[in-house]
Amino acid sequence: MKDRKKPEGHHLETLMIHGGGRPDTATGAPLPPIAQSNAFSYKSAEQLERVFAGREPGYIYSRIANPTVSFLENRIAFLEGGMAALAAASGMNAISTLAATLCGAGGQIVSSRTIFGGTYSLFSKTLPHLGIETVFADATSPNALAAAISDRCRMVFVETISNPAMDVADLAAIAEVTKKAGVPLVVDSTVTTPYLIRPREFGADLVVHSTSKFINGHGTAIGGILVDSGSFDWRSERHPHLEEFVRKAGPFALMAALRQRYGRDLGGCQSPMNAFLQTVGLETLAVRMDRHCSNTASLATFLKQHPAVRRVGYPGLTDNRFYQLASRQFGGKFGSILTFELANKEQSFRLINSLRLATNLANLGETRTLVIHPASTIFQDCADKEKEIGGVTSGLIRVSVGLEHCEDIIGDFAQALQNIA
Ligand SMILES: *Cc1c(COP(=O)(O)O)cnc(C)c1O
Repeated sequence: MKDRKKPEGHHLETLMIHGGGRPDTATGAPLPPIAQSNAFSYKSAEQLERVFAGREPGYIYSRIANPTVSFLENRIAFLEGGMAALAAASGMNAISTLAATLCGAGGQIVSSRTIFGGTYSLFSKTLPHLGIETVFADATSPNALAAAISDRCRMVFVETISNPAMDVADLAAIAEVTKKAGVPLVVDSTVTTPYLIRPREFGADLVVHSTSKFINGHGTAIGGILVDSGSFDWRSERHPHLEEFVRKAGPFALMAALRQRYGRDLGGCQSPMNAFLQTVGLETLAVRMDRHCSNTASLATFLKQHPAVRRVGYPGLTDNRFYQLASRQFGGKFGSILTFELANKEQSFRLINSLRLATNLANLGETRTLVIHPASTIFQDCADKEKEIGGVTSGLIRVSVGLEHCEDIIGDFAQALQNIA
């Protein structure tokens, strides 16, 4: 394996600022100008004909491709060590477009049963309406995933660290299963970002991010992205509908299918303005993640010794069941999401209402520390069984630890915990 921190001869910190992008040739601007234009003009009918036919490179219409969005796509593909990337209107849009493209009616997804609430709703409610079924399995057991894969399976989907269950998937072990079965492995690495892990190096065929979270970093723009690692052979028996794109584009078949058919027709393009904001955010991802992770480790340690706290979910605690695996996969960093459990809902509400700094809000990966009570919000509509699987108890609180001074964050939780006694 290549040096985790110096994958392309430069450190990841450097690639976030320089990788896969050059200053704008027309203006010299190091960040891409915001090409806030729906379409792009050509001098001659002959030239536009060539661009439409793909015989000459060029932008046509921003639902298909846009220069500002391409800049972000190239940079993230580069960071992930992938072959190509496609930006989408949101993380959900990246996942739903991919699922529609790979599966089609009659196809099946095998998914981790502890996944982001929006993805769970997509897989369990929306896609069945379109004829795509999902089998949910325990992703902490590669054998359970293997047993769930049938002839109709078109993709396996897992998250690096799920929340609020805080499960860590053993990607190398899962990739062994998916390779044997000939199914593409899709990894949602939103909470780990390209700074903690390049899932491709552990066998992921496709990587998705909600760029709304840490990549943007400031909670200012929704977006998603999908990276093809280049490891899956799309001449696959499970995906015969991609054959025409294999003929046209070879290893780039999936990207061609997305750009020229499924992604284009479903229409979930990322806006140039949002791509610009994600690109700006990405430049500081490494320094932000370092602080996010160290603050979270400190808060987890504080909460763990507090008498009112029954349990802390954070893979960075040495007695956590995923500690060894997480250390290995994420290079000694453990992300900035933690959960902790109080006695009941009343205590949790009292704590949230007593926090002065932490913001009660349904997002993660922002500069500020965020808290939410999952059972009464994100999981409000879920059955008790689903809550149990997700580890969502009535006293559970999820924290996305921000970039404030660590003593101020701990101080805020300390004073709020005093109020619940
Ligand atoms: C937020 C999130 C998504 C969905 O992304 P949006 O940009 O909100 O659509 C998907 N997966 C994970 C892990 C997320 O946290």
